[in-house]
Amino acid sequence: MKASVIQTPVLIVGGGSVGLATAIELGSRNIPCLVIEQSDRPAEHPRATALNARSMEFMRRWGLADAIRAAAAPPDFPHTALYCTGLNGFEIAKVERPDHGGSRASSVSPESAQRCNQIWTDPILCEGARSYDCVDVRFLWKFEALEQTDDLVRVTALDLARDERQVIEAQYVVDCTGAHTPIRRALGVALNGGEGMTWHVSAYLRAPDLWDHHAMGKAALINFVGPGGIWRNLVSLDGRELYRFGLRGKEFYDHPEAIDVPKLFREVAGDKALFEVISMGRWTARNVVADRYQVGRVFFAGDAAHLNHPASGLGLNTGLGDATNIGWKLAATIAGWGGAGLLASYEAERRPIAARNVAHAQRMNKNDRGQKPPAEIVDDTPEGALARTEMSERIAAALKQKFVTNGLALGYSYAGSPVCVASEDPAPPESISDYIPSTYPGVRAPHAWLSQDQSTLDLFGDGFTLMSFSQDHETPARMTAAFASRGVPLRVEALTDPAVPALYERDFVLVRPDGHVVWRADAAPVDPLAIVDRVRGAA
Ligand SMILES: Cc1cc2nc3c(=O)[nH]c(=O)nc-3n(C[C@H](O)[C@H](O)[C@H](O)COP(=O)(O)OP(=O)(O)OC[C@H]3O[C@@H](n4cnc5c(N)ncnc54)[C@H](O)[C@@H]3O)c2cc1C
Repeated sequence: MKASVIQTPVLIVGGGSVGLATAIELGSRNIPCLVIEQSDRPAEHPRATALNARSMEFMRRWGLADAIRAAAAPPDFPHTALYCTGLNGFEIAKVERPDHGGSRASSVSPESAQRCNQIWTDPILCEGARSYDCVDVRFLWKFEALEQTDDLVRVTALDLARDERQVIEAQYVVDCTGAHTPIRRALGVALNGGEGMTWHVSAYLRAPDLWDHHAMGKAALINFVGPGGIWRNLVSLDGRELYRFGLRGKEFYDHPEAIDVPKLFREVAGDKALFEVISMGRWTARNVVADRYQVGRVFFAGDAAHLNHPASGLGLNTGLGDATNIGWKLAATIAGWGGAGLLASYEAERRPIAARNVAHAQRMNKNDRGQKPPAEIVDDTPEGALARTEMSERIAAALKQKFVTNGLALGYSYAGSPVCVASEDPAPPESISDYIPSTYPGVRAPHAWLSQDQSTLDLFGDGFTLMSFSQDHETPARMTAAFASRGVPLRVEALTDPAVPALYERDFVLVRPDGHVVWRADAAPVDPLAIVDRVRGAA
């Protein structure tokens, strides 16, 4: 019997974090979509742990921030990064990173970064996606091939449980298949940049009493330093007993079955702590960005579009940014109010952000790998002590850029985008570490508390929001009429709290569904329709 054709407005291929986040973006706007994932469940081997404040703001909008916090490392867990020669060896540097988790109040975001590994994040995202009736998530479905016409994409997928081929016809496809994407490759889009590849293996360990067997204190991230530099690392996943033990080297990658994990672990952790290996995983690291983010009706997001060394914790965070950008644009296009140029702005906006984040990850990784301490760094001698002090000073010098990335997380901007109204004001300075609140068109609209629980960010999401801080009622009325005439949803938020107008810098600030400012002014625009058409991609 011939299988029937499945039809869906949006097919998301890959049910990892980015695919599921894209489904939530669509589901929350009532846009039907189908997610197909080749595995039988969310991945159970740990990868990303560091969710930055911006990703947590997305989780907040999706109603998932509490679940992530509950699954994350406990609030009292130190987010310390430790550099040492071994847990029973010598400490080299200890870096406190209070902004990497917990519930410490922040003046610039309603959310704090969290350390929640993907083994917990992905099931939360999956449940979030499935909470929408219009989202269909199917595990054990493997993408095989696609062809596209001007009107649709036709995908062949294998239903692995039934061993049956199925044809899926979609108006749009989002490729969220990760680093080994078969889709971007089939469409001939290359990755570029970077300086070659490194090979890694990570062992997922349970070691319940590890902290009792050494005097280094608890740490979220431990970099072990040997005579050749940083050679192994240990990442605490739950703040209690679960760890990811990282090994670098092609020989490990090529023959993971030959790795004597107990021996290698004891070399850095001593031989007293009991532990078991739960699973082993292999991965490669590159710092590259896809040449294109779109081919016809197919879009690339997450690791399918960009890859970076994980040391700076940016891959997943960048991918979630992709999901929130393409999500509302697909929804607006399918709903009919998105203009012909709206989807094309996805590449224009997101590719430069990936390039910036990837370049940062590359710099930080190069800095780590460039640490070549002398062999005596492990010795209990004056020369060893000197080598450790010198390395500690080098780590301190690079510290801020490596561990404080608020500028990258919150300060990224789509200024210059074809769907933002260009501003003649001077653009805010770019910074890796520092986030300076601004409403310059293109940036994320700033956070201020409106009440104990409500942030300005909670006002954004469905359609456009016009933040109004003026007694002038004519401007909101004219903007409302212009948006209505194009069928574009707009809500006016008239705010009187004196702290907010100062932060928002202008009497009127227009914010789009993903929370980015697209226009600001102190008076009505000469042609409100031109503004609407610009920001909906129809200019
Ligand atoms: C050791 C390590 C640590 C990391 N730490 C961090 C961190 O702290 N912070 C951070 O931001 N990032 C980190 N990252 C990066 C992060 O893990 C990735 O950026 C993230 O997983 C990308 O999500 P994704 O959904 O794009 O891809 P993936 O999570 O790889 O998901 C892709 C999905 O597509 C599915 N798929 C593939 N092919 C097919 C097919 N043919 N048909 C159907 N489904 C298919 C796969 O099964 C998979 O489930 C780390 C990565 C590693 C390896």
